[in-house]
Amino acid sequence: MDKPKTLGWRNKAACRGVDPDIFYPVSDEEAEEARAICYGCQVRQACLEWAIGNRERDGVWGGATERERRRMIRQRRRSA
Ligand code: SF4
Repeated sequence: MDKPKTLGWRNKAACRGVDPDIFYPVSDEEAEEARAICYGCQVRQACLEWAIGNRERDGVWGGATERERRRMIRQRRRSA
């Protein structure tokens, strides 16, 4: 059986091999280290869309914290 193709972007993730704790900060203020890695990641947009699409609740995905992703979802709903 084929692996799901939708997560193929993970193979190019800049966070591969990086301590996962960095991506689960206790506050938005402590998310800078993760953001810095995400901003240099070539699959940032795919990662962000996956997290938004799957309502990922925890952690930094695509350079955005959970609170920032919630805000993006609200903005998208308003402009839809
Ligand atoms: S955007 Fe950030 S969390 Fe997503 S794959 Fe890239 S480095 Fe990892």
